[in-house]
Amino acid sequence: MNKILKLLVSTRLYLLTTLGILLYLAISQLHLSLWYVLLGGIVLGVIFGKVFCRWVCPMGLVMEIMMSLSPDGKVRQMYQYHKVGCPIAWISGYLNKFSLFRIRLKEDSCLTCGKCDKQCYIVAMEPQKYSLYKPGLTEPGSSYTCSKCLQCVAVCPNGSLKYKL
Ligand code: SF4
Ligand code: SF4
Repeated sequence: MNKILKLLVSTRLYLLTTLGILLYLAISQLHLSLWYVLLGGIVLGVIFGKVFCRWVCPMGLVMEIMMSLSPDGKVRQMYQYHKVGCPIAWISGYLNKFSLFRIRLKEDSCLTCGKCDKQCYIVAMEPQKYSLYKPGLTEPGSSYTCSKCLQCVAVCPNGSLKYKL
């Protein structure tokens, strides 16, 4: 299971590019109703949390390309603001707390190496507030902003962090 997840995470940008372009074509050429897109985003949100933005969305793809060109983080913050205006991001971000699949920490096996936090853009933006493993800090995986890139889970050396039912 973990191998599949690592493979998915390592190919996420290719998946996002393919799905984003297909969805854009379906909307622009086949006139797919945005209501169906919204419904699809919500169904995905109920099952997986806010995966739509970083795995499927054409606008998410554009923002991700822009983010990669801006290491100073300004565009990262713009990305957050963009998502606040999107109903799919808003609803599925809220569903991060209730989705069937969630990021879970097995505290007794955690090495406190901090590798997970180094992968997470939410922790990078608000290190005093969020951590995936430090006691007392809210796990970013349940935050509205977590877009389920799952890099934190993929980088955990001993499987203490899992994305599971
Ligand atoms: S999946 Fe993990 S690394 Fe990605 S945003 Fe959510 S908490 Fe951060
Ligand atoms: S990467 Fe894994 S072992 Fe290291 S701090 Fe995070 S949860 Fe713990």
